[in-house]
Amino acid sequence: MGDDCLFCKIAGGETDTDFLMETDDVVVFRDINPIAPVHLLLVPKRHIRSVNDLTEEDSPVLSALLFAARDMAVQMGVDATGYKLIFNVEKGGGQEIFHLHMHMIGGWES
Ligand code: 5GP
Ligand code: ZN
Repeated sequence: MGDDCLFCKIAGGETDTDFLMETDDVVVFRDINPIAPVHLLLVPKRHIRSVNDLTEEDSPVLSALLFAARDMAVQMGVDATGYKLIFNVEKGGGQEIFHLHMHMIGGWES
């Protein structure tokens, strides 16, 4: 999988998307259509369709996503004020891009 997947292309550096963070497993970039002052997408480089498709093998990727969230919260200055981490799962859950990603949403006035 990958040829027709937008997030595979972005994570593979095939677009001009700026990364706020890149590790061996994960890239982080701003959502193109933000719904809050801070709206990031944390995306594994490996193509996984959704939470439904996770396997034990993906454990390191999942930890990498959460550690990236912890560090990005500090970098974006929302660690103390708070934020939401959201996975939309399949169409009924609002998922539009079928490559696993976690939304980080925050930065509202508190
Ligand atoms: P989903 O609804 O699948 O959980 O979230 C997909 C998100 O990807 C949406 O919030 C949408 O705004 C964002 N998105 C879609 N296309 C692009 C793109 O080309 N670049 C970036 N940075 N974000 C995108
Ligand atoms: Zn993909």
